[in-house]
Amino acid sequence: MFGGEMPELPAEGYPDKRNIPRMDFLVLFLLYLALVLLGFVMICVGSKTHYLQGVTSRGAQIFSYIIPECLQRVMLRVLHYLFHTRNNTFVILHLILQGMVYTEYTWEIFGLCQQLEFSLYYLFLPYLLLIVNLVFFALTCVTNPGTITKANELLFLQVYEFDEVMFPKNVRCPTCDLRKPARSKHCSVCDRCVHRFDHHCVWVNNCIGAWNTRHFLCYLWTLTASAATMAVVSAVFLVRLVVMSDVYLQTYVDDLGHLQVVDTVFLVQYLFLTFPRIVFLVGFVVVLSFLLGGYLCFCLYLAATNQTTNEWYKGDRAWCQQCPHVARPPAAEPRAYRNIHSRGLWGNLREVFLPATARYERKKK
Ligand SMILES: [Zn+2]
Ligand SMILES: [Zn+2]
Repeated sequence: MFGGEMPELPAEGYPDKRNIPRMDFLVLFLLYLALVLLGFVMICVGSKTHYLQGVTSRGAQIFSYIIPECLQRVMLRVLHYLFHTRNNTFVILHLILQGMVYTEYTWEIFGLCQQLEFSLYYLFLPYLLLIVNLVFFALTCVTNPGTITKANELLFLQVYEFDEVMFPKNVRCPTCDLRKPARSKHCSVCDRCVHRFDHHCVWVNNCIGAWNTRHFLCYLWTLTASAATMAVVSAVFLVRLVVMSDVYLQTYVDDLGHLQVVDTVFLVQYLFLTFPRIVFLVGFVVVLSFLLGGYLCFCLYLAATNQTTNEWYKGDRAWCQQCPHVARPPAAEPRAYRNIHSRGLWGNLREVFLPATARYERKKK
């Protein structure tokens, strides 16, 4: 239809600058970005159950004066259901969000980018990453993270050394009544002990443990990569659109009646009014890319140093020798937690991606 020319812009041309209060738009746009960021941080922090308990109790204290008691009870029941029981709410939410982002990409950006003669290789890259991501997403959801049972208890007890600080020998799980292997933890959401327990992830409705950390890392990597590629493609599309439309060469009359040269704020505003959904999408995937990228770096750091999130959290807090409020063992000399499981970078990565007991279990079958 356009044959390599620029996509059709609204017939009325450039929006009339005088009718758009500049500050209102910027405040709204920044508020949107801040809300997206806050929402993600809240959900990420909330998914760590021990943080959530503190947040809920403090939140309940504040809101107990404002919200009626029956509503409070309903809210607590919903929060308990969402974060303390196994349910597929976040798995469905994950798929809906991913579906919405990809629908917008396919319906608007893909077609417009083709008109601007973008390389098809770049345009198809987000789809390729989506397929790989969904495979690892499914694997993380359904793979046994390393559930400790009566049958495999002895096998797991031999895998890791007990450090006698964070993981003492001969401790039983009071719920499962099984001996606790070093680096294992009881997941209160799934009600089971998991070997090399990392955390319980609500987005995949499963624990992350010895046998599915590798799938989780690949899932996280492809999710970050798909968000980043989509952010780059959409941002390049908007930039190319501005360059082709010559809008940056125009002038406009400001509130005081002065002639002004088009600047970045005006351009962002212009794009927002012309392609609101695409600009919202760019904002969303850019924030998402940074958050996921940061979390991926943290997970890779843990994998490279052979730590789990559980150990990193406990090692940082429970055994901090400088903190007087933290309970210490009654020994005369307090023993500091030291990571005794590191086997060098490649050894550590090998342990995550080729867990020894998983191979053993497969041979047994
Ligand atoms: Zn247990
Ligand atoms: Zn769990």
